[in-house]
Amino acid sequence: MNYYSTNHQTPEVSLEEAVVKGLAADKGLYMPCSIAALTQSFYEQADSLSFQEIAYRVADAFFGEDIPADTLKQIVYDTLNFDVPLVPVTESIYSLELFHGPTLAFKDVGGRFMARLLSYFIQKEGKRQVNVLVATSGDTGSAVANGFLGVEGIHVYVLYPQGKVSEIQEKQFTTLGQNITALEVDGTFDDCQALVKAAFMDKELNERLQLTSANSINVARFLPQAFYYFYAYAQLKRMGKAENAVICVPSGNFGNITAGLFGKRMGLPVKRFIAANNRNDIFYQYLKTGIYTPRPSIATIANAMDVGDPSNFARVLDLYGHSHKAICEDISGATYTDEQIAETIRLVWKERRYLLDPHGACGFRALAEGLQPHETGVFLETAHPAKFKDTVERIIGEPVPVPEKLQAFMRGEKKSLPMSKDFAAFKQFLMGR
Ligand SMILES: *Cc1c(COP(=O)(O)O)cnc(C)c1O
Repeated sequence: MNYYSTNHQTPEVSLEEAVVKGLAADKGLYMPCSIAALTQSFYEQADSLSFQEIAYRVADAFFGEDIPADTLKQIVYDTLNFDVPLVPVTESIYSLELFHGPTLAFKDVGGRFMARLLSYFIQKEGKRQVNVLVATSGDTGSAVANGFLGVEGIHVYVLYPQGKVSEIQEKQFTTLGQNITALEVDGTFDDCQALVKAAFMDKELNERLQLTSANSINVARFLPQAFYYFYAYAQLKRMGKAENAVICVPSGNFGNITAGLFGKRMGLPVKRFIAANNRNDIFYQYLKTGIYTPRPSIATIANAMDVGDPSNFARVLDLYGHSHKAICEDISGATYTDEQIAETIRLVWKERRYLLDPHGACGFRALAEGLQPHETGVFLETAHPAKFKDTVERIIGEPVPVPEKLQAFMRGEKKSLPMSKDFAAFKQFLMGR
């Protein structure tokens, strides 16, 4: 299947080119040229299928034309070797726990899937090594680094701001070694992102190193997130609750919710979506006014959603033919302050003994406030609360147990290279590799 750019100023490309390039030449985001609906019988049987079986059917609809069936199946089965349980929090609100993967955050699936797909294309074409650059304020770096760990033909450089990520986050990408190099930048997250952008613009560097990005602009990273939504439906169906399902997604760059919207286009019976924001409520304001006004992000306790210009907004617009009305029919919004997020975590812990992380708390609250009678709500719990241990402990006034997987990272030895925020120095370093 071919992919077109949301800016429509550049020719369609193959899946391979969309994955290797990431962003289209006209700076648009790639979209699949068609979105195949899944069969009625798939939906009827969904409650008897496993997560892997469901994901394979969805992956086949996206990538089946371009990847041999046995290879695709293997990629899916390797990527999804953990469960994504649907856990009741109230009588009508369920938490879809996306945090049982290697780094305890939902980005694990996209990171791993993209690594395997890219590796397939590199081997098939006998290509030389591809180098992935990723700037991170914490969570993306760990998911991408762990997803790409040990994958042949790919080297990953994680750029992160010195002293500005938590110790848990830092350990998840600085202790790995092998094909992962952590660069500790003497600057802010914006400086890291500026270095990565400048590198992509630099012709000489690109020719020498075959650079690509691994954030949710890449189709191989964001589309696999659709698997989650189909599996949520299967579990609701098992409980006899699949009718009038409302799915609420804590959103930052809007990659995750866009994957859900693709699911709906493939026939997934979701009544409507809610995009939950922290104070970075650009999308919420767009729904209210029809006007999209990006602005610099502000720091919140749900920091993976501190995004002032969501990159996947272009995909949402494109999917709905730029119709504000059509978008509002499928998606509503919510926005919460740090105080409201903290209050929600405290209350749900006290009354329900369910410990939310700050991102999931936005999702839960939007359902608690916005669910109609006869609707069943599912919010995506995007990270394990222990990933935000200090914040969550301060809020509930109790220690938060750290899962063994996270503790194992903590025991590792940090290895990073210091890097100046000056592009010339960064370029010289990369050219010398
Ligand atoms: C990345 C992230 C989000 C936001 O996801 P988007 O796809 O960028 O909207 C929400 N919560 C957590 C924990 C994340 O890491």
